[in-house]
Amino acid sequence: MLDSRVASFAKIKFNEYYRKAYIPISELSRREFGFGDFESKIVKRHISFRTFNEFKSYILSDTPAFISVSTSIYRYPSARPMEKKERIKSELVFDIDSTDLNLKCQLKHGRSWVCSNCLDATKDEVFKLVEDFLVPDFGVPDDKITINFSGNRGYHVHVIDEEFMNLNADARKRVSDYITGKGITLSRFFPNIDNPKKQLRGPKPDDAGWGGRIARGMISALNSGEERLVSLGIEKPLARKLLRSKADVIMGITTGNWDKVNLPKKAEVWNSILKAMSISQTTFIDKNVTSVMDHLLRVPNTIHGDTGLISKSVESISALGKFDPMKEAVLFRGGTVAVHVNESPVLEIGGSSFGPYKDKDVELPTYAALYLMLKRAAVFR
Ligand SMILES: [Zn+2]
Repeated sequence: MLDSRVASFAKIKFNEYYRKAYIPISELSRREFGFGDFESKIVKRHISFRTFNEFKSYILSDTPAFISVSTSIYRYPSARPMEKKERIKSELVFDIDSTDLNLKCQLKHGRSWVCSNCLDATKDEVFKLVEDFLVPDFGVPDDKITINFSGNRGYHVHVIDEEFMNLNADARKRVSDYITGKGITLSRFFPNIDNPKKQLRGPKPDDAGWGGRIARGMISALNSGEERLVSLGIEKPLARKLLRSKADVIMGITTGNWDKVNLPKKAEVWNSILKAMSISQTTFIDKNVTSVMDHLLRVPNTIHGDTGLISKSVESISALGKFDPMKEAVLFRGGTVAVHVNESPVLEIGGSSFGPYKDKDVELPTYAALYLMLKRAAVFR
C-alpha cells in the first residue's frame, strides 16, 4: 500500500494540475472511461461523460491516481456488459514499454526503474514501428499517428486513421503478426533455402515490405561492421568471413544473389537475422492490437500515479528525436520536500541527477520527491 500521507499529498498535487490542465480527448462522449487509485490502475470503469466539463468536474471532485479511456468508440459507452456498448470502431494501439525489451541496463537498475538508455531504446522501437512499418508498409499517413509518453517506461502509439479503426480483430492480429515478424517464414524470401546445392536467391533492397527490409538491414549491418553483425546473432568467425568479401556480398544482395560467400548453416544464420530485425515486444503488441478492443489506456496529458509524470503527447514523429520525457513530462517544479529514501538508483529527472540513495534523508525538488515516493522508494521525513 502507498503510504497514506504520500497518497493524500499526491492527490492534492494532481488536483492542482487538473484544475488548469488541457486534456484533449477526441469523441469524448462516445468513449468509456476508467479510473484507478494508487494500488490499482482501474478501480472503476464503464463510466462516460457527455462533455469535457462533466469529465473535468468528475476528476476534480475525487482526483484519481490514473485516468484511462477506451481506445474504442461506442454507441453506449457506459453500458455493460461490454457487448451492450455497441462498438463502432477502435484505434489501433501499440504499447511500447522498456520492460518488454530485455535491456541489459535493467539487470543493474531493476525492471521498475528507467534510465536514459531504457527511454532511448523505447524511442527507437517507436521509430521502427512508425517509420519502418506503419508508414511505408501499411500506408498510414503520419498525421494519423499520435504518440504519447506513457508516463512511466515507454510510449503509446495510436493509429487514428478511419480505415484502420474499422479493422476487425482478425485483421488486427494480422497487422500485429506482420510487424512482429511472426509467421514470416524464411522460405518466403529465400525460396531455395533448403537446397544448399543451388545458388541462394533472396530479397533485393527495393523489394516491398519485409523482403526489402531484410536486404537493406543486411547491407547496413555489413557496412556497420563486425559488432553489428554479431548483434544480429552471427558468430564472430562468420561475421569476419562476410566482411572480408563485403563489397562482393553487398553487390550480390542488390541483385538478389545471397550466395556470394559460402555460409555453413545458411538457414540458421538468416533466421536469426530475421528475428533480430523484427520489432521486439511481441506480447505487448499482441495484447493491444488483437481481440482486446475493450482496452483502456492512459489519457494523454494525464498523470501516471506511479511516477507523477504526465503521459505527455509528442507533437509528431519528427519531434520524438528531441523529446526528453524526463524533462517534458515533469510537473510540480516549485518547492522542495524532505524525504527519507530507502533505496533508489540514479534518478535523472527535470534536468538534474539525484542519487543513488540508500537509507538517506534528503531534500528534493517536489517532482523528484514525488517520483521516488510514488515508486515506493521514499517516504516523508
Ligand atoms: Zn535502463
